[in-house]
Amino acid sequence: MNYSIIERSQHFLLLVFILNFTIVISTDATPVTSEIDSLIHITKRLETSNEKVDLLNEISWGYQYSNYQKTLEYAEEAHLLADSLHYDRGKGRALILMASSHASFGNLDKAIVLSNQSLAIANQTNDCYLISKGANNLGNYLYDKGMLEESLTAYHKSLDCSETIQDTLCMAYTYENIGTFHAVMGNNKEAEIYLLKAVNIGLKSDDPMVLVSAYYNLASLEHNKKNISAAIFNFEKAYNIAKSINNLSDMACTKVELAHIYAEVGNKKLAIQAVHDAIKYVEQANEIYILPSYYLDLANIYLKFDILDEAEFFSIKSLNIIKETDDSDDLLYAYETLYQLYEKDKDFEQAFIYLQKHKACKDSLFSDEKLLEISKLEEIYQSRKKEKENAFLIAHQKEQANIIKNQKLLNILLGVIMMLIAMIGFLLARAFKIKNKSHKLLEKRVEMRTKQLSETNKKLKESNAELERFAHITSHDLKEPLRNISSFVKLLDRKTVFPDGSSEREYMNFITKNTTQMHHLIEDVLKYSKLSNETKKTDKVDLNNTIENIKFSLSNAYLNRNVSIEVGTDLPTIENHPVRMHLLFKNLIENGIKYNKSDKPKVEINCQRDDDQYVFSIKDNGIGIKKEYFPQIFQMFKRLHNRSEYEGTGLGLSISKKIVDALGGEIWLESEEGKGTTFHFSIPKIAS
Ligand code: ADP
Repeated sequence: MNYSIIERSQHFLLLVFILNFTIVISTDATPVTSEIDSLIHITKRLETSNEKVDLLNEISWGYQYSNYQKTLEYAEEAHLLADSLHYDRGKGRALILMASSHASFGNLDKAIVLSNQSLAIANQTNDCYLISKGANNLGNYLYDKGMLEESLTAYHKSLDCSETIQDTLCMAYTYENIGTFHAVMGNNKEAEIYLLKAVNIGLKSDDPMVLVSAYYNLASLEHNKKNISAAIFNFEKAYNIAKSINNLSDMACTKVELAHIYAEVGNKKLAIQAVHDAIKYVEQANEIYILPSYYLDLANIYLKFDILDEAEFFSIKSLNIIKETDDSDDLLYAYETLYQLYEKDKDFEQAFIYLQKHKACKDSLFSDEKLLEISKLEEIYQSRKKEKENAFLIAHQKEQANIIKNQKLLNILLGVIMMLIAMIGFLLARAFKIKNKSHKLLEKRVEMRTKQLSETNKKLKESNAELERFAHITSHDLKEPLRNISSFVKLLDRKTVFPDGSSEREYMNFITKNTTQMHHLIEDVLKYSKLSNETKKTDKVDLNNTIENIKFSLSNAYLNRNVSIEVGTDLPTIENHPVRMHLLFKNLIENGIKYNKSDKPKVEINCQRDDDQYVFSIKDNGIGIKKEYFPQIFQMFKRLHNRSEYEGTGLGLSISKKIVDALGGEIWLESEEGKGTTFHFSIPKIAS
């Protein structure tokens, strides 16, 4: 396979300077004229067949440089024949050649339509080979038409296909076209990437032409970037490779580019020499149609260095050829060169003539050219705008991706938290279950314990009751012999008179005192034990009366002691046991008088009425009690003094406590040694 650069179209934009590659399928190297003749001869003798289609396409391709019309005619014939034979690839190739011819005539619209037809066939038959070539050429036509975005899409389509089938030459040319595209758009970095890719393929390729065009384009890019030495270096490389294969047309065009650079840097000699060389190569290659523009390039270089005669000579020479070829671009170039030349020569008359001609020619071209230029600029603007929008969208997308990423993390975190919560919930439920279980166990134990306790309590009560019964019986039984002892002592005392101060009198007194004490003790024990056995019969008890009775009963005992018993507040009438109430108040009032060293022993009784209870207080101005003894004094037989000091059995307070306890109340005291004591007790109203 072989690919050839068959079209080098000049671009309208000033920026455009790079070659644009159109590829036409060929089965061999470009046929020379003699070969074309023999191919025509063979074709005429051939029967209708696919082979004949291929040959017609070859002939069409052979006329590419020299005769666009013939290219078109043979391609059309190939197309018709291929169509009748349903030979798709032949038809596709013919369409590509037809498109190329129309593009050469300047009919880009037609070229685009034909290219699309070729691509449609290629797509239908999935012919990657045809797609890669057709799409590349379509890219060129679209580009020339100013449809830049579409052209880039077409180039990339071509690239995809050529990469798929590893068609390295097609890849190289498409890289160059994409590189060119980016160079025109001002994307120098992108341009360089693609052009270097093309160079790389060229270095490995068997076809030196690939490398020529790759270096040529890279040099143009460097030139555009004002890297003069790099531009010269790459153009010379392109030139040397073209020279090594004696490709005169490429030698010529690289020389012309070098000439322009030399002229730019002021190297007159090299610049003029380079264009002369280029003209020489073109003449040798017999590519006459290029000569007018090269003559004009030469004329302009002479003009730049003020060699006006030579400039005029080559301008006129060019103009004469152009008049025959009727190339409007070259004509415009020639008129422009001539009017600048005469203006510089101060031949204003001639300058004016060519300026007018230039203007007339330009006007006829202007509208199309300008429109194209405007549409290209518009495209560039739109594509820049889109690039910016894309960049914004990409940034936005990245931002969104970040947000989504963060959201995902958050979700994971939430998931973990939920899991933890679930785990905690589960553990709590388990703990609750265990606790419940242990709670039930505890409840059972408490129940058991309560049962045990109530049983023990019951037993205790029973044994207490038994004990109390025993105490009662015993006390009762003891009273009898004690009474006998007292009676006999009294009898003895009456019968025998013991003088005072005698030891017998003292013994008699001792016996009497102890029997009395024994009597009190038995009485108290009896009272204590009776409390439990007494019937629960209650009555209305006016406590004011109770106190009055107590006062009366005590008045004899404490006749000469100047005692006062006062009731501070009016006392209530309560539903209670009259005897118990009497006993309770009497014990406390009597203690207040007994344990009192004051000249005027005083006991004050008060009552505070709460919502649910009565709180009574019995206050004295007696000897007081140390705080440390508070808890002990309610115990049975507990006494803080010996009997020689204060008489008593040690049962008064325990009897009082037992009465209050039985009523569901409480008894307590406040006291300070030497300052008196106040006993308090409460009786729930419900109990009263
Ligand atoms: P007793 O028959 O000995 O009076 P109590 O049980 O009534 O027995 O009192 C116990 C002890 O508490 C008494 O021995 C006494 O020391 C002390 N006591 C009781 N009441 C008072 C009081 N009002 N002031 C000082 N001490 C008291």
